[in-house]
Amino acid sequence: MPYTYDDQNIFAKILRGEIPNDTVYEDEYALAFRDIQPQAPVHVLVIPKGPYVNHDHFATAATDAEIAGYTRAIGKVCAALGIAPGDDGQGYRTIANSGEHGVQEVPHFHTHILGGRMLGRMLK
Ligand code: 5GP
Repeated sequence: MPYTYDDQNIFAKILRGEIPNDTVYEDEYALAFRDIQPQAPVHVLVIPKGPYVNHDHFATAATDAEIAGYTRAIGKVCAALGIAPGDDGQGYRTIANSGEHGVQEVPHFHTHILGGRMLGRMLK
């Protein structure tokens, strides 16, 4: 499915430095910053630097290097924030809302990282 990327979306503006954000990690492939309305003690959004609308767009159109770099960036963010399960940070949840039924609000692909407390059970 072809996607049209709106470069006026709020995360595109954050990527261009037009809107301030609380950055926790950045590399060639990804930018991670704190969610403005946190749902947990740690609530960070990780976005790819490329213009991808949602997970489907990213998974089908991004290069292998972008996908690998982005996926590894999520792990680096969790390690940097001290929530990685292997480091006794007790773990975290990742969520990527995509499209209307996914109730995606911002049309630049992003993954939520939630942690810092025991989360409620979901996906049932
Ligand atoms: P979605 O529903 O698209 O998965 O999530 C979008 C997230 O972006 C929401 O959790 C919302 O709080 C966050 N958000 C929306 N606008 C801004 C903003 O300007 N700055 C930051 N840091 N987060 C935002």
